[in-house]
Amino acid sequence: MRYVTFSRPDDRTQRCGALIGGRVIDIGALASSVAGGYAVASLRDLIEQGSGAWNWVRDLVAGAAERDEAPGYPVDSVALCAPLPRLRRNVFCVARNYGASEGAAPMFFTKATGTICGPTDDVEWDRQVTGQVDWEIELGIVIGQSGKDIPAARVSEFIFGYTVLNDLTARDLQRHHGQFFKGKSLDSFCPIGPCIVTSDEFGDPLSKAISLRVNGVTKQHDYTRSMITPPDALIESLSSGMTLLPGDLIATGSPPGTGQSRTPPEWLQDGDIVEGEIEGIGVIRNRMIVR
Ligand code: MG
Repeated sequence: MRYVTFSRPDDRTQRCGALIGGRVIDIGALASSVAGGYAVASLRDLIEQGSGAWNWVRDLVAGAAERDEAPGYPVDSVALCAPLPRLRRNVFCVARNYGASEGAAPMFFTKATGTICGPTDDVEWDRQVTGQVDWEIELGIVIGQSGKDIPAARVSEFIFGYTVLNDLTARDLQRHHGQFFKGKSLDSFCPIGPCIVTSDEFGDPLSKAISLRVNGVTKQHDYTRSMITPPDALIESLSSGMTLLPGDLIATGSPPGTGQSRTPPEWLQDGDIVEGEIEGIGVIRNRMIVR
């Protein structure tokens, strides 16, 4: 399944949907038409209701689509929002997870929840606040089931799905404050989307091409198999002694080619178009606005 959060042009209410064959199926409307089923107020709500609800929705959507009875809209006629617009907790992130391994344990940090924005939303900042905004394309993992001390071999049971994520970073703030949090946490600095692809449909998370373009020029291109610590070991490490919850979002690190690593360094400018793409998920495309 490819889950989205969408709104219609005539109604800004955010709804949970499924992308099937160029259409967005309105899961909330479909679910409410069935007596005795699950109510689906949002994608987060669906994730938190657990695998019984996911399986019920999957079968319901598949059946309605097959009979051509599913309430829905052409994908071009709706706005795709961040699939999880309001996280309950910060985005969990890992630094330096591509390139040469230094043999160290994963370095975890977080981004504030206010960073989340949609796959085509503008990213805005004030030039008084930062002048060194950088890109970091990353594979995002959405947790489906609560877990603590999850062994690597069982990690797949706890994953709901995958999304594209840009871990935008104000490098000057990151340095100035001596810690990652502030430079990573400006409003709109974490575009995600365009959908969440469930684990069964996504397949091996280590087999995917991952890339980022600025104004059509490729800046990052790699494969997820280049991760130093792959998702199963990352989640084993992160969940050790610390409970992960349904709807938690984990950013798995960015391949080489960020702006700060270039000579001379490159920073995003007003009007730049940044596109992040991961094979099997899709493209997020955000315009940079400097006020
Ligand atoms: Mg990052």
